Amino acid sequence: MQRVKKEGEVDLVIRRNQITKLQRTTVRRKVTDRLATTEQPPCDAGNDTDGVPVPDNTVTANKTRTDVTSSAIAVVGGGISGASTAFFLRQQFGEDAVIDVYEKGEVGGRLATINLDSKLYEAGGSIIHEKNAYMVNFTNLLGLERRMPSDEHLGLYNGEEMIFEGSRWIYKHQANGLAFTTPERLLESMDGDLMAYLYYSLEEILSHEGFSQQFINEFVMAALKCNYGQTPEIQAFVGIVSLFGAERKLWSVKGGNKRVPIGLLEKSNVNLIKTKVNTVTLEQVDEKTKYEVKSNEVTNIYDMVIIATPFYGNESDISFINFPEPIIGSSHLYHRTVATFVRGLPNFSKFGYKTLNEFPEIVLVTKDKFFFNSVVKLHRVDVGSERHENKQELPTWKVFSQQPLTDEEMLALFISYEDVEVVNWSAAYPHYSSSEDNLPSFRLASQLYYVNTIELAASCMEMMAIAAHNVALLAHHDWTGKVELVNPFVYGEFGRQEL
Ligand SMILES: Cc1cc2nc3c(=O)[nH]c(=O)nc-3n(C[C@H](O)[C@H](O)[C@H](O)COP(=O)(O)OP(=O)(O)OC[C@H]3O[C@@H](n4cnc5c(N)ncnc54)[C@H](O)[C@@H]3O)c2cc1C
Repeated sequence: MQRVKKEGEVDLVIRRNQITKLQRTTVRRKVTDRLATTEQPPCDAGNDTDGVPVPDNTVTANKTRTDVTSSAIAVVGGGISGASTAFFLRQQFGEDAVIDVYEKGEVGGRLATINLDSKLYEAGGSIIHEKNAYMVNFTNLLGLERRMPSDEHLGLYNGEEMIFEGSRWIYKHQANGLAFTTPERLLESMDGDLMAYLYYSLEEILSHEGFSQQFINEFVMAALKCNYGQTPEIQAFVGIVSLFGAERKLWSVKGGNKRVPIGLLEKSNVNLIKTKVNTVTLEQVDEKTKYEVKSNEVTNIYDMVIIATPFYGNESDISFINFPEPIIGSSHLYHRTVATFVRGLPNFSKFGYKTLNEFPEIVLVTKDKFFFNSVVKLHRVDVGSERHENKQELPTWKVFSQQPLTDEEMLALFISYEDVEVVNWSAAYPHYSSSEDNLPSFRLASQLYYVNTIELAASCMEMMAIAAHNVALLAHHDWTGKVELVNPFVYGEFGRQEL
């Protein structure tokens, strides 16, 4: 009996036949290397490489600042951490403070888009949970639109009560001006149990909560490999954050998530200095702590410096000079994630499907050390909730893997393909293990702060915004001597009550 073809199938089959020839020819694969802290080509004034308007507050990189009279603050890094730090600093320090944001590449950092066949797709941080209050607020404040890319997302996990019950507390604490010096204290203020999650593996916590080993080995493994390229041995806190990515209540910003940092920098009336900071030198001027921030092009003096980019590997990209103690003793291992963007036809029969239409929009891998971690059908960043898919067009897929895919692996995954772009995130996320080691402090030295220590608990846009607010509050309290608002014992005192 002849099977009735589903809508769109005929066209795709015809296309498949046409394109099969193409697979034999070499399809150009453009590889973009993106290291969280390597230099990216600076974009043109006016527009970035994907045509998104860049803030018009860029200061020419060869101008050395001489006009500093009120508090002057340098923020190193123009990703979501640096941009949201700048935004919260402006709230705390007022309009007179000089805030300079240094960015050596493109504003947005790990929030970036990729252009495939003249269409833009999220290349880095892509999904935001509906409960991520700062990301929701920023999007509203900047007049950006949300798009809901995830109506087909896998619903792997429904244990919401167990996880993150206390997370809303941090917003209340921060609205009340409370700040914390370490990630552990900040997590503890959210919920007394959360801090403990840093020291247990997700597998231990889930087993303890009664989840079956099969659930852990299959669903949990798949979600973790997709989101962080790691296994259920990951520490439980980041594991729980990752499982949120398997929920349905997800969205992203129409036009690209990087519009949030770009918009925040503009809104905060800061100076964007497009250069790479090489050194931060401690100086004493009239018995006051000052910092010299130096790049190849500029040298400026500040009252405080905020590092909003990760330290990783054996040495930081930035040298800290003249400090009595070494800054950040430990080095952090970061994971590579390769994102391969493919416009093509998945090899549905290899996955056991009879037709292309049966092929799921999301394939997560439950096996460790496999040649890919996930394959996800993509939607353009400029198409909102009203998405109209053109069935005639070849679909576009994002494959996450630990290593670049070989030609054989590409052909195992795709019958044929037309366009391929590869983004090599050589430092995508920290390696997460459950250990007793303390995480670096938010306060590295007097008037020197580090936002990205929170990444060692969990790396996602909302956590970075929470840490950014914490650092802005901490810096302001230190500056104004409001010690009572730093490290208050909130859990049990007002942590469980309405503030
Ligand atoms: C592939 C991938 C997928 C992800 N998916 C999600 C997701 O779905 N949801 C989610 O919430 N999160 C996701 N994340 C994580 C999220 O993207 C990051 O947590 C977040 O973007 C980190 O922002 P950041 O500002 O701290 O760091 P970055 O974005 O890395 O910004 C640091 C900036 O500092 C600049 N810089 C570094 N050194 C210097 C220097 N010396 N001088 C001047 N500038 C410097 C860099 O150029 C960079 O722009 C994903 C990450 C990756 C890589």
